[in-house]
Amino acid sequence: MTFADKARIDDFLDQLGRIGRDPRGGFSRLAFSPEEREAHALFRRCLEEIGLHTSTDAVGNSYGQLPGSEDLPALMTGSHLDTVYQGGNFDGAVGVAAAVEVARVLAEDGGMRRPLRVVAFAAEEGARFGAPCIGSRLVTGAYGPDTLKELTDRDGITASAAAEAVGLFPGEAASARWDFGQVECFVEVHIEQGRVLEARERPIGIVNSIGGSTRVELVFTGRADHSGATPMWLRRDALVAASEFVIAVERRARAHATTVATVGRLDVEPNSMTTVPGRVLLQLDVRDVDSERQRDLAEMLLDDAVRIAGGREITVTARRLSDQSPVVLHGTMQAALAGAATRRETAFISLPSGASHDAAHVAKHVATGMVFVPCRDGVSHSPAEHAEAARVAEAVDVLVEAFRSIDAGEHA
Ligand SMILES: [Zn+2]
Repeated sequence: MTFADKARIDDFLDQLGRIGRDPRGGFSRLAFSPEEREAHALFRRCLEEIGLHTSTDAVGNSYGQLPGSEDLPALMTGSHLDTVYQGGNFDGAVGVAAAVEVARVLAEDGGMRRPLRVVAFAAEEGARFGAPCIGSRLVTGAYGPDTLKELTDRDGITASAAAEAVGLFPGEAASARWDFGQVECFVEVHIEQGRVLEARERPIGIVNSIGGSTRVELVFTGRADHSGATPMWLRRDALVAASEFVIAVERRARAHATTVATVGRLDVEPNSMTTVPGRVLLQLDVRDVDSERQRDLAEMLLDDAVRIAGGREITVTARRLSDQSPVVLHGTMQAALAGAATRRETAFISLPSGASHDAAHVAKHVATGMVFVPCRDGVSHSPAEHAEAARVAEAVDVLVEAFRSIDAGEHA
């Protein structure tokens, strides 16, 4: 029986860390960039060295396949290789490094009844085109070629044009769709991007659900006036109204343990010390693992905004930017992973994921699980991001054990 080798995991992450280094710090391997493609080439090269057959689909998702001894649906694992602007070398990368190591371990042990298929999704980060999980939404059919023409980056380049520029075939996106009849299950290993595992001193976490998000842009419009000549009773201060709203967001979100709500952006106009703020644009992000609570809270907050504005003779308009449902991961996969961890004597906790992942899209079609590994201080989307290869190796051993038990038919 072969086990994961943390030196090999470190080696993959080291090699990946030479791609897309940003002179300003961190790594910039953006969605549909040459750097992302270079990372995918490394992934394929590593798989070919172990003897896997590799391929890349029309929209840049890369695959490797270890054949099974029988004609059965595949066991799948993987994550993504792109980063945000000046991100770290572990978000996504850890799950791809784990997938390569799972393939190595199983190849060295002579494979399974079922094929193993490993994947590196393209364009998971929403940093460039606004929308996250583009590769996984294309394979599940949630997105098509038209979506790629609608998404643009800050330079006005469409996702479609960017994909074409790096040699992909976005017009043939439909050919990237998975045949879910050929997939038994999917598991994504990922860094936690939070501090729960570290605080609880657990080497891995088994994810039970992936939170959704409702994002709304609100504009409070009052009246810009001279800060000296306008008495308090005559003011229609848009920022004071917006501030009252921000406090309401915190108060309502605190009422439920799984709810988080954030106003992370405020644009104040004219943003001048001697002018009463006349207009404030703010963006609200509401997340929960309970879709009803997430949407109810967003609705309640919109009512709050109208009430607050009305009381101050200010107008408010709202525009929904996006709305994604939370996803509960499959009980069979949580049980298979928990059983494997228990047999391997790897301590774990079950926890929800606040961040969105490719696994959330795959989970709508096939039994899906996620394994989290801790990242130092919970830091992510930053050059300071770090995860221990030893923890990734533990996740690989648990995943291999789970795949073996599924392959033996224990969870069929
Ligand atoms: Zn990620």
